[in-house]
Amino acid sequence: AKTGSRNCFQFYVASVDQEMRERKRLEKDLAGALDKAQFHLVYQPQISLENGRIIGAEALLRWEHPERGLVPPDLFIPLAELSGSIVDIGRWVLDQACHQAAQWASEGMPMRIAVNLSAVQLRQHDIVETVLETLERHQLPANRLELEVTETTVMTNLEDAIAKLHRFKRKGIQIAVDDFGTGYSSLTYLKRMPVQHLKIDKQFVRDLLINEEDTRIANTIIDLGKSLNLSVIAEGVETPEQEHYLRQRGCQLAQGYFFSKPLQSQEFESFVVKFHDK
Ligand code: C2E
Ligand code: CA
Ligand code: CA
Ligand code: CA
Repeated sequence: AKTGSRNCFQFYVASVDQEMRERKRLEKDLAGALDKAQFHLVYQPQISLENGRIIGAEALLRWEHPERGLVPPDLFIPLAELSGSIVDIGRWVLDQACHQAAQWASEGMPMRIAVNLSAVQLRQHDIVETVLETLERHQLPANRLELEVTETTVMTNLEDAIAKLHRFKRKGIQIAVDDFGTGYSSLTYLKRMPVQHLKIDKQFVRDLLINEEDTRIANTIIDLGKSLNLSVIAEGVETPEQEHYLRQRGCQLAQGYFFSKPLQSQEFESFVVKFHDK
């Protein structure tokens, strides 16, 4: 038992050490990724369940690492937030997304574009100016841009965050609460938040109609949206049963693999044409 536990301890030290080195290397690569043009965006269609039309897309960031291939955003975004590089990366995402939306509009395909905004970005004192300048640069009307923030993002810096969201709103930019129901917030604060959309997190959609609790939670969010006059979007919709249920229950918008995975910009364009054709 004695030698066993010692070996175990050594193994533990070695693996933690290796993990640390792995992380440091990834952080270093991440710091250079923007300059090396290793990022690109993919676009996931958002569909109106009321009229079956594609009304917009969520822009999702992809990092193509030269040796590792695609690194999942759930892995590198937290690192970028810790190092602060999310500020520059986020500015690039915003610029790309607005550029794309302006391009689509000029091709007769107006789309609302949803961009994820990290807590670190929202904390920047010049974030509102940055966003407005980006819209201006691409001549994109403010109501074509939607910013997705989580409850936690808003709650960790409440007064400042709410003030900034009000400034976005006054300019006509739309705000969605992402991952709604998974974070730390309350109805009191939700009432104070100048938001227009609630996003039902995919964890509640996954087992919709299988797990009774998840069904009730989704229902509650849809009803909450109705009473607060917010539109509700379900993410992670994968099956026709989920789509049908959400539609007849009065959820306005949906996105998920049932319609389409996130697509490169050209794939997105052909998807829209085909989808509206049928
Ligand atoms: P999120 O904002 O909640 O994005 C939804 C995630 O669900 C995306 O993962 C999307 O690809 C995935 N998804 C879409 N449809 C389905 C479906 O039907 N089933 C399932 N199981 N998943 C689906 P992705 O692209 O890997 O992004 C993960 C997270 O990384 C995002 O979660 C978001 O928090 C963050 N992220 C992505 N891009 C950005 C960005 O540009 N900036 C910031 N700050 N965060 C980003
Ligand atoms: Ca999102
Ligand atoms: Ca989510
Ligand atoms: Ca998320």
